[in-house]
Amino acid sequence: MNTVNQKSATPKDASAVILLNQDESKVLWAQRNPKLSFLGGFHAFPGGKTDEPDREIAVKNCADADFAKFIVGAVRELFEEVGVLLVRNGEKLTKGQRASLHDDLISGRSSFPEILTAWNLSIDAEDFLYTGFWTTPKSSPVRFKTRFFIAKCPAKQTPYAAITEMLTPEFITPKEALARWTNSEVLIAPPVLISLQQLEEYFPQSRQEAKETDQQISAPLRLCGEKILKKSQKCDGNINYIELNPRVICFPLRTATLPPATHTNCFIVGRREFVVIDAASKDESELVNLFELVDSFVEKGFVCKEIIVSHLHPDHFGGEILLQKHFREKFGLVIPVSAHRITAESLSGKVDFQKFIEDDEIIKLKDNAGASFEITALHTPGHARGHLCFYDRARGFLLSSDNVVGAGTVLIAPPEGDLSDYLASLERMKNLPNLRHLCGSHGAAIFDARGKIEEYIAHRLEREKQVLEAVRGGAQTAEEIAAIIYQNLSPNIFPLAVKSVEAHLAKIEKDKNSLNNASS
Ligand SMILES: [Zn+2]
Repeated sequence: MNTVNQKSATPKDASAVILLNQDESKVLWAQRNPKLSFLGGFHAFPGGKTDEPDREIAVKNCADADFAKFIVGAVRELFEEVGVLLVRNGEKLTKGQRASLHDDLISGRSSFPEILTAWNLSIDAEDFLYTGFWTTPKSSPVRFKTRFFIAKCPAKQTPYAAITEMLTPEFITPKEALARWTNSEVLIAPPVLISLQQLEEYFPQSRQEAKETDQQISAPLRLCGEKILKKSQKCDGNINYIELNPRVICFPLRTATLPPATHTNCFIVGRREFVVIDAASKDESELVNLFELVDSFVEKGFVCKEIIVSHLHPDHFGGEILLQKHFREKFGLVIPVSAHRITAESLSGKVDFQKFIEDDEIIKLKDNAGASFEITALHTPGHARGHLCFYDRARGFLLSSDNVVGAGTVLIAPPEGDLSDYLASLERMKNLPNLRHLCGSHGAAIFDARGKIEEYIAHRLEREKQVLEAVRGGAQTAEEIAAIIYQNLSPNIFPLAVKSVEAHLAKIEKDKNSLNNASS
């Protein structure tokens, strides 16, 4: 579907705290509530948007007012989310008093500046080590420019899930956190991953050096913080791609896709041997960073096995031919372009395919240390004929292409789209053994894959009910039905709503026929 691109969202200011325990052996993370629309279910450091009242608080040893605001934001968010009050003079407060102040803050009875003033508490910049800022990728409908600070948890304070936004906060060694990410047990955003990787490097020398009683950040931890800062400065806080786990990289590319989505996710799957799925942009300047990344793989001796097109929509192909040409010209490599046979037939004359992918085909890729890494291709039509999803069964990670997405809606538009097929595909996806997370072609990864697919199925069945009701109420054409069901829709989206109703009417007709056939 070719439509006009929308502008990327403007990033909002935010702060986050990389909180270490007293001996600096563990870092605090928590799972964001899976119901949150922004990175729901992801593991993250406590943090959030900075508020204007954060400016009212003076920060000791900090001359820059803007910077002070970010420190205050970090302290307030830490208190709001996990109940830790990282202030000077705070040791006089009992656990009960802190809980009561937290209640005052959350209920709005007192503002954060009022609480600090009333109890003569202060914030000191020396308790915080700035480790740079990171900006949410342009592909995200909500974006933040987040400043990260390393700090130490005050003695005798234990983080807890103080509000429903952050679940099960825990101190964890960076090694264990990274192991969970490697096994795809958790999802983490790039700044968290980069920080954990640096902390893991620092960890072996930490225990002896750290002081166990105060807020002072040890010299090795300072050095580690400076390394994180350098990483952020090197790319000016910009994130080109997201490592969903060590074998799945999501690389959003700007495409002419269906709003509100602005990008199509390209995936680089595997390691020692890898495949590229949906190099979707036809714009060479948009592909530069992707090429840089795959070049770095090839230069490490990794081998690209094929370039895959997931399905026939124009926001999913175009770059594969450019990538194939790039591999040939730069490295003399001949990499086949592949898709399901139906996709290849539909795109004949536009894309030359050298290989077809069958339903249930296992793509076997060499992994580290002689092991192999497998993904299974699933023919899952409905949104489009020949539509492929890819499943890493061992880790329960599904690449759902356009069948389930993290941003925008999935259009089922006849004659290409078929709602009966689509629902059957969703059922098949939902029942995949060991299913844990998914990532579609648009938007962020989804933590609870099965829950999301069930939501999609329920939504379509609810729409079907509405269509039947509108028909019983006298509506006769798809346009009339759409006007009843989709109210206040902008006129340029309305034709898509009509298409969607047509898909429902076709399914209802099909169901009726199969019922008649069964009873005759
Ligand atoms: Zn599509």
